[in-house]
Amino acid sequence: MQYQSLQFAKKENELEVTLYNIYVFSIPLDDVKRICPVYKVGRNSIDFEMQNKEKAEGRFNLLITKYIRNLKNKMSGFPAVYVHKNAGIPLFGLQFLGIVDKGSEMLEIKPITNCNMNCTFCSIDEGPDSSKQVDFVVEEDYLVEDLGKLLEFKKKHNPSVQFNVWINPHGEPLLYAPILSLCERIGYFRNVAEIHIITNGVLLNKPLIDVLAKNKKVQLNVSISGFDDAKARNIMGSNAYSINRVLEMIEYASQRMIVTLTPVYVAGHNEDQFGKIIEFVKKIGCKIAIQKFCYNKFGRNPIKEKSWNEFYVQLKELEKKHSLVLLGEIEKLQQTEQLPQAFKKDDVILTQIVSPARMIKDKICSAKGYSVLVPGCEKESGKIKVKITQDKYNIYIAKPLN
Ligand code: SF4
Repeated sequence: MQYQSLQFAKKENELEVTLYNIYVFSIPLDDVKRICPVYKVGRNSIDFEMQNKEKAEGRFNLLITKYIRNLKNKMSGFPAVYVHKNAGIPLFGLQFLGIVDKGSEMLEIKPITNCNMNCTFCSIDEGPDSSKQVDFVVEEDYLVEDLGKLLEFKKKHNPSVQFNVWINPHGEPLLYAPILSLCERIGYFRNVAEIHIITNGVLLNKPLIDVLAKNKKVQLNVSISGFDDAKARNIMGSNAYSINRVLEMIEYASQRMIVTLTPVYVAGHNEDQFGKIIEFVKKIGCKIAIQKFCYNKFGRNPIKEKSWNEFYVQLKELEKKHSLVLLGEIEKLQQTEQLPQAFKKDDVILTQIVSPARMIKDKICSAKGYSVLVPGCEKESGKIKVKITQDKYNIYIAKPLN
């Protein structure tokens, strides 16, 4: 039996199963032997020496279903939830996971949570210092199929629109093991014009860039926010960060595909870095879109947010000093038909608890094919009545009523 996304290794009394490279769970070998005492474990396969292979497969899949509930992210050590087709967790309805459609030509997909960096300004509080307690990873097939359904819906209502798909998870997208095949499959949709990967660049390497660059729809948006080694390590919150390596990869990538640098301007922390970043952009000929640091209640906030005016003044000065346009026209996004709204604010609905959310005390519930985030839900399972408190863009938050 072959499993493309799983790797197996025998460890003492357990069969260690790794999903998408960084998630792991174990199956007791006693349980495996109960299927058939004679079996062979390969890297992506397990073979039971029994006639009825179908029966063996069925029983082994039941073991996977049972023990994958103990899934852990090896990197963070957090419990992890595998969001697959049969997990009962809809991909629409959450801000941090799945598919987000805000009614424009831009669609966001979020296949993973957590990050290998720890930026001091991270607006979503990801990485090793994160206060989150649970990680998520979405099955590739599930994501592609639901995106396909959304694109089909869009095609019916907006036949001439070409969509841009942004892979911008609450974390680092290159940690998602099937990122290449995900991009390839998204690229097959005819009404997708561009696929943007928003990455910190740490996991870029030449072979990976070569394959990404073959997909003409893929573009890289790389968030570097420092240029000097010590400064860059400091702002990325990691001693393992090597800005020189990331710059080398950016330069290599920019010779093969469209690359945009997206540094965050954190006044008082990294303004002295922007001159060098801009000169680098001019040297290699990539694009740049400087981001303003914005306060986020749920993020890391090293400074008080500055006004947009102050930000624009800084950008204008940089423009003048480095003779590079930094304040271009902001292109208006084309509006497109949204999926029908399932609930309205203040609706009282009955939902099914399907998973813990990023914090164990919060839950993901499901109703009418949408996920609903219910903070402070003490119940662990079963049905619960909730009142919708947020409904914008079909992203639902609710409070428990009992
Ligand atoms: S790279 Fe992005 S997601 Fe990761 S910690 Fe930095 S800002 Fe957050």
